[in-house]
Amino acid sequence: MEHIVIIGNGISGVTLARHIRKLSDKKITIISSESDYFFSRTALMYVYMGHMKFEHIQPYENNFWKKNRIELVNGYVEKVLPDQKTVSLSNGSKIAYDTLVIATGSKPNKFGWPGQDLEGVQGLYSKQDLDKLEQNAPNNKICKRAVIVGGGLIGIEMAEMLRSRDIPVTFLVRESSFWNGVLPNGESEMINEHIREHHIDLLLDTNLKEILSDENGRAKAVVTDKGETIACDVVGLTAGVTPNIDFLKNSGIELGKGIKVNRMLQTNIEDIYAIGDCAEQHEAIGLRRPIEAVWYTGRMMGETLAQTLCGNPTEYNPGHWFNSAKFLDIEYQTYGWVFSERNKKEYEEHFHWRHPKEKLCITIAFHKDTHEFLGINNFGIRLRHELFDRWLNEKRSVEYVLEHLKDANFDPELYETYEEAIVSKFNQDFHQNIRPKKKSWKRILNLA
Ligand SMILES: Cc1cc2nc3c(=O)[nH]c(=O)nc-3n(C[C@H](O)[C@H](O)[C@H](O)COP(=O)(O)OP(=O)(O)OC[C@H]3O[C@@H](n4cnc5c(N)ncnc54)[C@H](O)[C@@H]3O)c2cc1C
Repeated sequence: MEHIVIIGNGISGVTLARHIRKLSDKKITIISSESDYFFSRTALMYVYMGHMKFEHIQPYENNFWKKNRIELVNGYVEKVLPDQKTVSLSNGSKIAYDTLVIATGSKPNKFGWPGQDLEGVQGLYSKQDLDKLEQNAPNNKICKRAVIVGGGLIGIEMAEMLRSRDIPVTFLVRESSFWNGVLPNGESEMINEHIREHHIDLLLDTNLKEILSDENGRAKAVVTDKGETIACDVVGLTAGVTPNIDFLKNSGIELGKGIKVNRMLQTNIEDIYAIGDCAEQHEAIGLRRPIEAVWYTGRMMGETLAQTLCGNPTEYNPGHWFNSAKFLDIEYQTYGWVFSERNKKEYEEHFHWRHPKEKLCITIAFHKDTHEFLGINNFGIRLRHELFDRWLNEKRSVEYVLEHLKDANFDPELYETYEEAIVSKFNQDFHQNIRPKKKSWKRILNLA
């Protein structure tokens, strides 16, 4: 019987294993060094914040794996030996495979900062990082201040976590405004305000220069490139992630920043594949990045590869870009492409609306000549994913989207709605006379 060995028990590896089991009787082994059982990495923050226990973020009962004949090995793969079709583990054991899938995820970036390996300096990625944070920052007596370095999604999560225990936080962000390499200016500025409202000391345009040590080898302060010294007990390094692939050097598997794969998610070695955060497409798919460190694409890659490995060769086709996140209290969703000013395409025009008082806003991108709708970012207002997917497929105009915006609203009944104000601002900005149509369930369900 074919033996499929998967390295990594994150969302990518586990989705693959589950789908192979649905489709076949093949022997499946998952090797991972982080935890015995799969857990939801995106929910780690809620464990620290006391909303959940670690067991609650494990989506499957512990007997699920045995019941489904998925063998779990807790171990670290030190080497892949393609000639021998085996992997060797740090405990000296070897496991033979017929097909190998690498799903080893990412690791937090470190840029060689002096002091980056001191006690009290840590990333936020793994279960071990969560345990470390619990030790380093159990309360504001032991951790009197934390400094977080790097203004992305993980940085703001870490800030929220620490603030939930009333720990003062300084947030060093290299950019001139929070996440403005991704978000258009209006949105990024709104998030700056929101961060400060949460009493987080946001320092923009500021880089980490070095971390200072006390006499016991623990971090005691950071020095910024502005010459400021900030006393602290914990330093969170959240300046992005890179594929976790160091153990593959000299294995013969082609590597770039990640593990190079084709659209079948296959490496340069026929029976070795890579999925999830660690996989790098030879050529980017559409406007996507060659490496996408997001949850749902890992799941999609797992589902796709299971088809291929079970006799139905299938190309990875992620469809239209979408994503969602939370910035403290503000929910964010994005469908299609809305680029920041820094990365805006020459054909891309933006319409931006922001509520005069509340932290609500949207930005719609459209083609400035054809008016084709390209994408939407929405903050604090929930919009229907499947409708935007449809409108993108149908290449609808921005005017059509605004006229039908009430159909897209996904907020619970009786929530205040903002479509009239949004459309009125669009009419003003672009000298139009669009009248929003009443919400129609027939249209939403595509029955009209
Ligand atoms: C705090 C945090 C919050 C996030 N929030 C979001 C979010 O809201 N939305 C979103 O889309 N994405 C989010 N992400 C990103 C998302 O979690 C990742 O994209 C996703 O978990 C990647 O899944 P994966 O299966 O590719 O890899 P991983 O989840 O990283 O799993 C890989 C596993 O392989 C193990 N491993 C690595 N090397 C070896 C080896 N040599 N031997 C044995 N085992 C090994 C690792 O220890 C790990 O357990 C977040 C990430 C973090 C850290």
